[in-house]
Amino acid sequence: MNVLVINAGSSSLKYQLMDPETGAVSAKGLCERIGIDGRLTHKVGDRKVEMDIPMPTHSEAITAVLDILVDKENGVIASTDEIDAVGHRVLHGGMKFSDSCIIDDKCIKAIEDCIPLGPLHNPANLMGIRACQAVMPGKPQVAVFDTAFHMTMPPKAYRYAIPKTYYENDDIRRYGFHGTSHKYVTRRAIALTGRQDIKLINCHLGNGSSLSAVKDGKCQDTSMGLSPLAGVCMGTRSGDIDACVVQFIMNKYGMTADECLNMLNKKSGVLALSGVSSDFRDIEDAAAKGNADAALALEKFAYEVRKYVGAYAAALGGCDCLVFTAGVGENSASMRARICEGLEYMGVKLDPEKNNVRGKEALISADDSKVQVWVIPTNEELMIAQDTAELVGKM
Ligand code: AMP
Repeated sequence: MNVLVINAGSSSLKYQLMDPETGAVSAKGLCERIGIDGRLTHKVGDRKVEMDIPMPTHSEAITAVLDILVDKENGVIASTDEIDAVGHRVLHGGMKFSDSCIIDDKCIKAIEDCIPLGPLHNPANLMGIRACQAVMPGKPQVAVFDTAFHMTMPPKAYRYAIPKTYYENDDIRRYGFHGTSHKYVTRRAIALTGRQDIKLINCHLGNGSSLSAVKDGKCQDTSMGLSPLAGVCMGTRSGDIDACVVQFIMNKYGMTADECLNMLNKKSGVLALSGVSSDFRDIEDAAAKGNADAALALEKFAYEVRKYVGAYAAALGGCDCLVFTAGVGENSASMRARICEGLEYMGVKLDPEKNNVRGKEALISADDSKVQVWVIPTNEELMIAQDTAELVGKM
């Protein structure tokens, strides 16, 4: 089976053609500068092709993707009939979606209704969906939501302690993000440990970072909130912050709420703390050369992740398994060691040699560690392809 996985942004569109059963990717690529001029980067194995193609809208971008997928020289399929279904990543499913969904008029209307909750991403995701409908009419399509995995949280985790009207009338609550990644590593952790009922803490640590507390495969709590700004500090996002900081800065510097939020989303986090970069590799290099601000950024990031791990162990009544995933979680042995330092009291003991691993599935805890610690590379595209295949199979 071939599933075309699409992640549409406002001016970009990422794609992968993959087999949901084996996870094999036959081709992948990226359309950029949609609405400006248009550029396609297409990869088949190690071969990479780049070309300028006019893309006034997402429809031309999808057409360019389909053309290259069936192209004699660079393609991997003979005709678009070989694409069985399309799976779309959609940011915000609000309270309307607790699972992935076959795309029909009702689903599109519900994604539209969630635009106030995901004002930047949902309109772009819809452009990708509509473009596929226009270019491949009748092809089964599925929407996979970044928020859906977290919809099993109980009210004590998702409600904010603010007047009820904002929840009842405006759907203001904790939703959480990276749900597709948390769902994927949860499934893998259950398979790897052979236990469905494990108390699991997932650390998705990348440019954006979030943690989730999972029991019996179901999310009980997560660190991001109504938006992806909440939780631990990240590449450029502040993470959790006292709302009065926003009021103070707006008043003193005459900033609007949008300007202040832009600062918290794009100019904060480890970028602001280190003054070096939002990329953990640059910060680790700078810290190794003696930069004290870079060292503080690393220390604070590890401290915040460690605090959430402690909080989630308390929330779950224990922890059987700790998982590291995403760019930093999969690749930075030193950050994993820093985070686990001080978690010995709850039974976390890393094996320094096993921890010396990058980008592959590995058990990195010591044999006598009470908590199993795993590195599990995330694969959001595979999760999207599998959800799509499952739903389309049910049609
Ligand atoms: P992601 O958002 O999951 O793609 O993660 C991207 C981030 O992972 C980058 O910004 C880097 O900071 C981080 N990263 C990738 N490789 C490494 C590495 N070898 N060591 C430390 N951080 C890394």
